[in-house]
Amino acid sequence: MTTVAFIGLGIMGGPMAANLVKAGFDVVGYNRSPQKIDNLVKAGGRGASSVSEAVKDAEIIITMLPDSPDVEEVALAKDGILANAKPNSLYIDMSTIKPSTAMEIAKQAQEKGFGVLDAPVSGGEQGAIDANLSIMVGGSASDFEKAKPIFEAVGSTIVHVGPSGSGQTVKAANQLIVAGTIELVAEAIVFLEAYGVDTESAVKVLAGGLAGNRILDRKASSMLARQFKPGFRVELHHKDLGILTESARQAQVIIPLGALVSELMASLKANGNGDLDHSALLLGVERLCGRDK
Ligand code: NAD
Repeated sequence: MTTVAFIGLGIMGGPMAANLVKAGFDVVGYNRSPQKIDNLVKAGGRGASSVSEAVKDAEIIITMLPDSPDVEEVALAKDGILANAKPNSLYIDMSTIKPSTAMEIAKQAQEKGFGVLDAPVSGGEQGAIDANLSIMVGGSASDFEKAKPIFEAVGSTIVHVGPSGSGQTVKAANQLIVAGTIELVAEAIVFLEAYGVDTESAVKVLAGGLAGNRILDRKASSMLARQFKPGFRVELHHKDLGILTESARQAQVIIPLGALVSELMASLKANGNGDLDHSALLLGVERLCGRDK
């Protein structure tokens, strides 16, 4: 039985770790807030009281943490993964972090003899629960092959996209497209409402034509009802658009619409909407139009 250490048992990591247990892996979990470890134990996993304890006997180590500094700390600190796991084990970071951080961690991990993959996901909490995440994987082909049984236990679309860091680059592009599409759907809704159009009928016909997209399919009805329970929090999408704009700048790639939607997401956070679903970009459009009163 393969032992998998899983660090970061939050909205995404909790159900992903539980699905690994279901698929027959021996899962040892660690999370900073301990009640999340109890949930994994209830699901049939084992708990650890530190990162070092979780990783010491694992063949595979997974992190699912909020941001780049969290992953750096857990991977590189004295009591972290690289200093305490068995050499030759495979380290897979599934968090969304900067491509440059993923590359630096990969370099240090490889120097110590570890296999390493960056494998961020798309599909949200429901995708994590249903084990049908999209997984974009950066790293070597042989490490990708080794990790496949893990990915198949938590995802359904699993693609090796290139060397270390590539998974995170693809994820940044994903977050650009998602944010931009939500913003356009939000602007269309406010425009339609201003003309008193029956928005539900409008969404139906728009979804069937060239304007059709997954945001219209999955989010338009909750947006029309002004329900913004997350889902994916504005705060996290704001982080991801920071990764995108910084990485684009480093590569001298100009992303005018990406930069604009990044500012609009930042404005939501600044207005106290950081804990809402990212479809709350609609509230930002209403504020810009003076229609939020
Ligand atoms: P979350 O905040 O719910 O979970 C993160 C967990 O990590 C928390 O339980 C926290 O206690 C734990 N943690 C933080 N620092 C730690 C440390 N040093 N040691 C141990 N545990 C620590 O976040 P989430 O929504 O599960 O997202 C995780 C990652 O996945 C993020 O990078 C996010 O951008 C990405 N992601 C999220 C979604 C989504 O819909 N929520 C979708 C795709 C990708």
